[in-house]
Amino acid sequence: MTTFIVANWKMNPSTKEEAVSLLLAMEKLGKENKKVIICPPFPFMSLSKNVILGAQNCFFEKEGPFTGEVSPYMLKSLGCNYVIVGHSERRNFFQEDSSLIRKKIEVLNDAKMTTILCVGEKSREDSDVVETITRQIESVLDGVSLQNIIIAYEPVFAIGTGDSCSAEIAKERRELIKEVLFEIDKNENPAILYGGSVDSNNVSEYIDKAGFDGVLVGGASLNKDEFKKIVDSV
Ligand code: PEP
Repeated sequence: MTTFIVANWKMNPSTKEEAVSLLLAMEKLGKENKKVIICPPFPFMSLSKNVILGAQNCFFEKEGPFTGEVSPYMLKSLGCNYVIVGHSERRNFFQEDSSLIRKKIEVLNDAKMTTILCVGEKSREDSDVVETITRQIESVLDGVSLQNIIIAYEPVFAIGTGDSCSAEIAKERRELIKEVLFEIDKNENPAILYGGSVDSNNVSEYIDKAGFDGVLVGGASLNKDEFKKIVDSV
């Protein structure tokens, strides 16, 4: 079984030199059953031919008059086969909603690229968490092939805060996500990742204790030594 470690650099680093140095350090990480996918900002995506590339976002059309947008087909032509969709920062800062996210997933499926779909409740106090996560998944995946889908469970309160979700709660959410996916398509079994303040101390809890198929790492993926430790701990 493959374990995924996805590095989401977000809007970092600010120079090409720093990006090259980070990419160089990440080139040797990962093995056949341990897939390390690096998602740098768009301008840095062509700086290494020796990493598995992912993107942090894409548009929902192949090409055309969409100033400032990036098409999945452009990414594919760079050798990128994974795209993060529905990250909470995009939902929050760019008002991305289910209908937009669904369009992105559909075009990614058409392009035979893998979507890494982020879902998760905003706060620990969400009393409707089952409903929240179920709706986030069903609204964008109902009737859509799950063949090229990876889910990242990312509770918003844990993203970039150091306040990671306990392995017990994360496990419950993973089970819920599995059930919702099973209702959509019984024949596919998409990988489910955990994301939210993952570091080298807590990563094995999510894999070994909570049963996730991997992790999505934000902040800690910008620190070469820490990221290597995370990969080595999986
Ligand atoms: C993320 O950006 O998806 C993320 C999980 O960030 P962090 O690891 O910094 O919480």
